[in-house]
Amino acid sequence: MKRLVVLGGGYGGLKTLLGLLENQLPDDIEITLIDRNPYHSIKTEFYTIAAGTSAEKDVRLDFPDDKRVQYVYGEIDHIDTENEEITFSDSSKAVPYDYLVIGLGCEDNYHGIDGAREFTNSVQTFENARYTGLAVCNLKAYGKVSVVGAGLSGIEVASEIRESRPDLNIRLLDRGSTVLKAFDSKIQEYVAEWFTANDVDVIHHANVEYVEKDGVCNNGVCYVNDVTIWTAGVRPNYLVRELPFSKDNQEKIMVNEFYQVPEKKNVYVLGDCASSEFSPSAQLAGQQGEQLAEILFDVLRDKQPKKPGKIKLKGTLGSLGKSDGFGNMMQKPMTGLLPRIAKSGVLWLNKRH
Ligand SMILES: Cc1cc2nc3c(=O)[nH]c(=O)nc-3n(C[C@H](O)[C@H](O)[C@H](O)COP(=O)(O)OP(=O)(O)OC[C@H]3O[C@@H](n4cnc5c(N)ncnc54)[C@H](O)[C@@H]3O)c2cc1C
Repeated sequence: MKRLVVLGGGYGGLKTLLGLLENQLPDDIEITLIDRNPYHSIKTEFYTIAAGTSAEKDVRLDFPDDKRVQYVYGEIDHIDTENEEITFSDSSKAVPYDYLVIGLGCEDNYHGIDGAREFTNSVQTFENARYTGLAVCNLKAYGKVSVVGAGLSGIEVASEIRESRPDLNIRLLDRGSTVLKAFDSKIQEYVAEWFTANDVDVIHHANVEYVEKDGVCNNGVCYVNDVTIWTAGVRPNYLVRELPFSKDNQEKIMVNEFYQVPEKKNVYVLGDCASSEFSPSAQLAGQQGEQLAEILFDVLRDKQPKKPGKIKLKGTLGSLGKSDGFGNMMQKPMTGLLPRIAKSGVLWLNKRH
């Protein structure tokens, strides 16, 4: 028997699994997918959970029901690449592997800022996004929310909360001189105007010094607030950071063109955990998963895998509430209802697949 274990049923892990299952696999392959949750989490929609505007069941999908796959649901606490087994935080039995795929995603990067881990809410896991949603929805009228970080997730979180709770005082702390640093200037201006029109206070050149239970201190000024949401950067999952493999300057594992770890050729890494020329995204993790499925299909049949083709990313789409948005479509910056409809369309298609 060849035991293939996939860690994480997120965008990368699930696409790897689906790609493999499309094929006629040899009988001697045993596939196990391990995740803490008994469903695939649609992480790109977590901002709606954090704002309390989506039902939880709309932001998850069942894993494929296929007799060739076993599922183990539990909290992984160690990836033992010496003894080739996965262990759990409770007393569950360790899961051994012959081939391992690691797609465990990322977690918040607090950049060593005092109080940030203890006193901020997160959108990086389903559980954390739920707590954030609870904290936001339980706010009394005119409560104060600060969102730290004005990248894609910060913008989506702040605008979704604004649309659902016009009474709240919302502040967005942006490290740069303009929101959405990675996007076209037309999009940056549009989004900045949206925040002005919708009464979200955007503070540029933010440099958060510390966070307390009741507020966030930035550039010598402490803002009192009820909920602080952290969207100011991510790093790979700690389980991956602990592995004894070479990493890039963002702590992601170096892999070769086959997503293989050079030091351990039976270990493959993808998505937010793997070093890449591209910024981390669900789109990237999904495409890598499709390629890895083809590679593994060959490897598991003792064939030399073909070199994967170039990754071709389509533009990123973002939302400003339910009926406004922005993004790059056909290499053009677009704003307004059209990119918002496109974003919903992409979500619908992904759910169907
Ligand atoms: C609010 C928000 C909006 C975003 N919007 C976009 C967008 O519009 N477009 C885009 O392309 N990207 C977007 N992203 C980024 C995107 O979600 C990630 O890049 C993507 O999910 C990475 O995929 P992955 O497969 O590497 O990891 P993930 O999809 O995060 O999957 C990791 C899996 O590992 C499991 N796991 C982790 N740790 C453990 C453990 N210890 N034990 C057991 N299981 C574990 C998790 O439950 C999860 O299922 C957004 C992210 C956020 C937070």
